[in-house]
Amino acid sequence: MATVEELEAAGVRILRLVYADLHGKQRGKDVLLERAGHAIAHGKPFVEAVMTIDNSHNIVSGEAEGFRDLLAMPDLKTARINPLDPEVAMVLCDLASVPSHRPSGLDSRGALKRICARYAKLGFTPVVAHELEFYLLERDAQAMGGLRPLAMRDSSVYTVGPLADPTGIVRAMFDACDAFQLEPISMAQEYGHSQYEINLTHGEAIEATDRAFLFKALVKQMADMDGLVATFMGMPADDDESSGYHLHASLLDKAGKNVFDAPRAQDGLSAIAHHFIAGVMEHAPAMAGLLNPTINSYKRIINGGLSPKFANWGHDNRMAMLRICEERGPAARAEVRSGDGAANPYLIAATILAAGLDGIERKLKSPKPVVGNFYAGPAAAMGAQLPTSLGAALDALEADTRLVKLVGPALIETFLSIKRYELGRWEAQQNRLTAWELEEYAEAL
Ligand code: GLU
Ligand code: MG
Repeated sequence: MATVEELEAAGVRILRLVYADLHGKQRGKDVLLERAGHAIAHGKPFVEAVMTIDNSHNIVSGEAEGFRDLLAMPDLKTARINPLDPEVAMVLCDLASVPSHRPSGLDSRGALKRICARYAKLGFTPVVAHELEFYLLERDAQAMGGLRPLAMRDSSVYTVGPLADPTGIVRAMFDACDAFQLEPISMAQEYGHSQYEINLTHGEAIEATDRAFLFKALVKQMADMDGLVATFMGMPADDDESSGYHLHASLLDKAGKNVFDAPRAQDGLSAIAHHFIAGVMEHAPAMAGLLNPTINSYKRIINGGLSPKFANWGHDNRMAMLRICEERGPAARAEVRSGDGAANPYLIAATILAAGLDGIERKLKSPKPVVGNFYAGPAAAMGAQLPTSLGAALDALEADTRLVKLVGPALIETFLSIKRYELGRWEAQQNRLTAWELEEYAEAL
């Protein structure tokens, strides 16, 4: 839907102007459609501090410039009716600086657009599919953090229907995604208790990522309406499976042909595909800072059953960080498996595509693929170890100047300061007394 008249005719009263902060969280403003003309033409101002906020409402920077404005510029072609409230149309926004109206360096959607424009110069169009896992939690004052997985039922993993989804909420989410034009294709219970996966159809990178961004917020919103919490955090339960955010990527040429596909090559992959893989391998440790952006993310990397621990790739190998899916032809693609659900959808796509682009532009040579259970083989063949803590990942990100330049120095600088602030708050917690210490020492000593 692209015009105000069309929206009015569809019964819309409110435009919900939304954009992603650096966590990928939906922020925005509601505007009455009948008075939205100015916001549509000139953007809706909001305080830049929104982009420097951590997950606990601390504003990490912005004072230096006196908390200036940014502009949310509605991208009307993204307007779609909210399935939960048909009088509301959701509209994604690009962020612009004031007064220049130039794209803001803090916009993760803008970062993805820039990377796609670089691919366009090479004659390529990136295509991605977002594959997100999440848990449903219910409130329980006795449980750690006041939350525990919903409806604990053993052995319902990989099942579908009422056994896997007793209250029907996941089915309702699936239907709402469809009504919202997020193009869901499949859903199932995942390996964890109360862990689910909904897959979204692939599409051109910006459009497909817009859908993933709306998807995460919709799922969280619907769980909240039922008194539950949907979480995409990487490791919300000890002794259960982690939640990954797998991104599938391929490139099309100007004729719409998949550039990764090379039927005559021994492994069916083109030189471009190998360069792309090589770029992802080279930047993998730095990518972790953006793909695994929380303290908790590294509990998934260390403890998750199918979470990658090394920068490597393999053919249809789910233990590898990058899996070349077995299909070829139009479906030839790389699945990057290292991200977790906490990642910002725009940043996960921008980062992986940026790493691949660097591999293509520098014609990097891909290492040998890993085969089978490589963990049982020699350590040297496993690839570089991925960071095992947020601090190490942020340092690796900062040190990778090529990746920083591609994704956007202003964005990365702000991202690093928010995340280092979060890390500092967590480190301060480590000096507080724990239950473990009392249990271990109080009676014994
Ligand atoms: N849950 C796993 C992860 O954390 C992935 C399982 C799968 O391959 O679907 O990445
Ligand atoms: Mg899965």
